[in-house]
Amino acid sequence: MPKPVELAPGIWRIPTLGANLVNVFAFEEPDGRLTLLDAGYKGSGARGTMAGLAALGKRPDQVRQLLLSHAHADHAGGAARVVRDTGAPVAAHEASADDLRRGRTPDLDRRSLMGRLLNPVRPKLEPVEVRSTFTEGELLDVAGGLRVLHTPGHTPGHCSFLHEGSGVLVTGDALFNFLDRMSYSFAMFCTDIPLSRQTAERLGEVDYEVVAFMHGPEIRTGARERVREFLRKHTKR
Ligand SMILES: [Zn+2]
Repeated sequence: MPKPVELAPGIWRIPTLGANLVNVFAFEEPDGRLTLLDAGYKGSGARGTMAGLAALGKRPDQVRQLLLSHAHADHAGGAARVVRDTGAPVAAHEASADDLRRGRTPDLDRRSLMGRLLNPVRPKLEPVEVRSTFTEGELLDVAGGLRVLHTPGHTPGHCSFLHEGSGVLVTGDALFNFLDRMSYSFAMFCTDIPLSRQTAERLGEVDYEVVAFMHGPEIRTGARERVREFLRKHTKR
């Protein structure tokens, strides 16, 4: 398994599938405990997350909480196992909580043919107890403050996260950098395709130095300009 990649002091991307196909993130407190963001797929995600913790020299009981960006199998599929291994409480956006508790993934956009075809066969999740919820604009008690940017559309409760102190933005699935190529999240996985594109604009408006993705490698140089350039090129005005 590839090693965790430090994005800023005390903030890591942990690869759980390939070098960067499915990532989770870890944020360290001054006392050494960690907050995890996402848990990958059911098997690989939980295994990769725990291997990442070990590589960082952390014990499972040092995980203080698990945040989930949205209720999809490649982000929340491993959550129940990570919770069993670490005992950490789960937090998610209020619009994701119900799906996560019931082990459901949100409806796919029926305006697309793929959405209509995939809707009846979309994957289930292992249900997970969501202990607390967060909302748009909240500053979470994570490594000095992690800002919640609610970017719905990919799913109703989808969030991106900005660590303002270090200038690290985690896009969630609002933007992909799959195979080093920036894109919107794939339409066939979205609940509301136009809304997902519209709310991604938000990521061009906030300030950061490094942009990190759940799918693909981070960008460390000219990150905000690269995102803004992508959005400019793809926004229909
Ligand atoms: Zn997703």
